[in-house]
Amino acid sequence: MNAPVLEVENLVKRFPVGRGGLAVHAINDVSFRIGAGETLGLVGESGSGKSTIGRTVLRLLDPTAGRIRFLGQDITTLPERRCRELRGAMQMVFQDPWSALNPRMSVAALLEEPLKLHTSLNASQRRDRVQELAHSVRLPAEALRRNPSGMSGGQLQRVCIARAIATAPKLIVLDEPTSSLDLSVRAGILDLLAQIQADTGVALLFITHDLGTVQRISDRIMVLYLGAVTEYASAEALFRAPQHPYSQALISAHLPADPRSRLHRHVLQGEIPSPLRLPAGCAFASRCPVVRDDCRRIRPPLEPVRSGDDLAACLRIADGSNRITVLEENPA
Ligand code: ADP
Ligand code: MG
Repeated sequence: MNAPVLEVENLVKRFPVGRGGLAVHAINDVSFRIGAGETLGLVGESGSGKSTIGRTVLRLLDPTAGRIRFLGQDITTLPERRCRELRGAMQMVFQDPWSALNPRMSVAALLEEPLKLHTSLNASQRRDRVQELAHSVRLPAEALRRNPSGMSGGQLQRVCIARAIATAPKLIVLDEPTSSLDLSVRAGILDLLAQIQADTGVALLFITHDLGTVQRISDRIMVLYLGAVTEYASAEALFRAPQHPYSQALISAHLPADPRSRLHRHVLQGEIPSPLRLPAGCAFASRCPVVRDDCRRIRPPLEPVRSGDDLAACLRIADGSNRITVLEENPA
């Protein structure tokens, strides 16, 4: 693997609630790395800790424990002022481009803003760079004179992406960047990100709850459940042979509806435990179709599965009892 752009070890984030030591356990011991030119997809249901991970690795939130290294530099406890100096090298794109952009500024001014903040380019160099940026996100030149109010969601997200790449960052965290866009517009944004990555080698942390999107854009994928990693694998292997019962359920639910298919969608039942009080054993035990007693007592460690670097956290994998019933005869 390429020298990692981002290395995260045993990251923990808790949000204290009131007095008495109660806290939301938003991230529970998460480790991963992303190399130059790589895309890590972060997938999981709402509340599984995806946004908190994205914001913490950029040091927009302070981690409770663990280590974050960016380009080899330990930034875990870097003071706020020094973090600001890194902002040009690590950028973020959010779900909602409407609220991310000042509606009173022209697109040209919006693209110039990060150049003013993070580069020493002079006014005429900035004008040239703004043209270049519009071109690289395939915005028509006339869009530079407009302001966000009259533009479509897809075009506004292109403006956000142009702002994010303005300072030639090494890492971009994208938090549900296509979730507010029409399906027809999504593909164009994903193609654009792939093109930018091919041209610049930027590392991407791509957060989404949409499996189709994550499959398409990721090299590797991390599946989260209640702030913990259930499976961490190459995109190809995860979709071909998901190991963790939760990954199997997610992927079976995402299969295209086909009445002739022998694959059953698995609909998860049961309650998600409260992040205020994590269960002693596997967090997924309350919804797992293949749960056994020991799952409720023992927290499963992340262990190698298949070959290479793939990991999953499930006690049932060792003896093959991890298969949920997705392959059955269709009764109809
Ligand atoms: P996701 O992005 O996967 O939907 P989040 O990272 O937003 O999940 O949230 C993870 C957990 O942390 C949730 O239980 C959420 O309610 C909680 N959480 C997020 N931000 C805060 C905060 N500022 N204060 C308290 N709890 C928070
Ligand atoms: Mg989120």
